Amino acid sequence: MIICGAIDLGGTKIEARAFDGAMATVTTRRTATPVDTFDAFIAGLSAQIEWLCEQAGDPDLPIGIAVPGVIDPKTQLAFASNIPVTGHDIGATLKACFGRTFPLGNDCMALAFSEAHGGAGAGFDSVVGLIIGTGVGAGLCINGEIPPRSSGLAVEVGHLGMPAHALAAAGLPLWPCGCGKTGCMERYMAGSALGRLYEWKTGTHMDGPQIYAKAQTGDADASEVLTLWQGLVAECLLALQLLIDPACIVLGGGASMMPGLVKRLSEELRDRQLGQSGQPEILLAQHGDSSGARGMALLAMRDAK
Ligand SMILES: [Zn+2]
Repeated sequence: MIICGAIDLGGTKIEARAFDGAMATVTTRRTATPVDTFDAFIAGLSAQIEWLCEQAGDPDLPIGIAVPGVIDPKTQLAFASNIPVTGHDIGATLKACFGRTFPLGNDCMALAFSEAHGGAGAGFDSVVGLIIGTGVGAGLCINGEIPPRSSGLAVEVGHLGMPAHALAAAGLPLWPCGCGKTGCMERYMAGSALGRLYEWKTGTHMDGPQIYAKAQTGDADASEVLTLWQGLVAECLLALQLLIDPACIVLGGGASMMPGLVKRLSEELRDRQLGQSGQPEILLAQHGDSSGARGMALLAMRDAK
């Protein structure tokens, strides 16, 4: 029996997911994301909400929505680079359509909440969820709650600058970022950055999985680039420790699935420790690709009670 649902918004697909009482997935449906206008986007999103309600036979099914971007807690206006919602109030627009509210949250925050509640971060008092995919983002859950936010930009660590010493040691240039700044962490440590680093080093392009596979055959360039990238990811982990000092950092996103990555990153982070301090546990998201949706569904159920 379906008791809640969630919608995972992405630049290419809108995925609806229905959950049962054990938070197991009952059914999912993916549709293409309309990216031309906000109205078309809302129509696509609304169709997925209606589909979930039909599947459950409940027009009031609690449904949370994971947004790949920022929602200003004061104005409720969204900012996102991959979906046409910037400057719009998604929540108010949906309320006008459906006559009820849907909890909206940043997808990385939703990952942290999901993993803190019955996931890899269960039992830890402070959990950072870090998504390493096409881009990089992070969210925070403390004592099982999302902490209060002022601008919604908390832990947007992908747009912190990569430390100068790390760039200088590798001889890396300041690469421009989609946010308008240069030298953002995301440009060097996202999953997509593996290909960028390889091209910078060799002049030829390969994607992350190809580089990983080549490194396993002993290829010197691929191995060097993989080690460099892991070190740059560890710089991000250290920045998270210095900013938040979480008990654990749970990794999500496509690149987090690389075999052996969690162990390697734990070692790289240990090499960067300040003094004798301990370090956060590095863990892999237990609920995989659907963890963010699971987190928003949990939040929607809580709101409904
Ligand atoms: Zn940036």
